[in-house]
Amino acid sequence: MKILLTNDDGIHAPGLEVLKEIARHFSDDIWICAPDEEQSGMGHALTLTRPVRLRQHGERRFSVTGTPTDAVTMGLRKVMQGEPDVILSGVNRGANLADDITYSGTVSAAIEGALAGIRSIALSQVTNREGAATDDTFEAARAWGPKVLGPLLDTPLPKRTLVNVNFPALPGDAIKGIRAVRQGFHDYSRGTVVEGRDPRGFKYYWFGLQAMEHTLDHGTDLEAIDDGFVSVTPLQLDLTHHSSLGELGERFG
Ligand code: MN
Repeated sequence: MKILLTNDDGIHAPGLEVLKEIARHFSDDIWICAPDEEQSGMGHALTLTRPVRLRQHGERRFSVTGTPTDAVTMGLRKVMQGEPDVILSGVNRGANLADDITYSGTVSAAIEGALAGIRSIALSQVTNREGAATDDTFEAARAWGPKVLGPLLDTPLPKRTLVNVNFPALPGDAIKGIRAVRQGFHDYSRGTVVEGRDPRGFKYYWFGLQAMEHTLDHGTDLEAIDDGFVSVTPLQLDLTHHSSLGELGERFG
């Protein structure tokens, strides 16, 4: 099995090494193509206004001066010899739950893979509120990654679908199991906007993501993580709201 790994935290992200360890349970044919630098929050952005550069770091290890989507595209078109059987994106440092998904470079890299018709899975490690990266930040992902990936590698997935996995911020042995759940929703509040002044006296603004409130709906990814489970959510690329289609159709004759 040929596997392509990427990570929106960049080619040097510790989570990418964790993902490689997890992937090694299933294959030795592992390729890496990831952004040069952290690209968290870039969503499904594609670089169009400047060139991207490809850098080689090892026999099967490459970085791209672009977005997670650029990295997957380059991985498929320029880096790999033959198409991968699986694309794994992560392990992201931080949650990608509920409506984080559309901001997420991690999930978007898997979206790009799904568009290319390849089985694609996004993996994220929920961190504590401080979000500090410590040596054991990825403990849950290490312990539960192979257990969750095994079934996901041979379950049939329809076209244009992908899977979003999140590991709770708990020690491996405190995790209760794995739940297949739907996407939840945060109550809308885009965190904080920190205002400051740069060294030349000009104002700047810096977005923070902390302390997003949410109502815990039953059967959602947010609830599963809150209950101490690994969450597994199948996602589809068809964003059409089908039940509104009829009414809009009538309005426009
Ligand atoms: Mn990230």
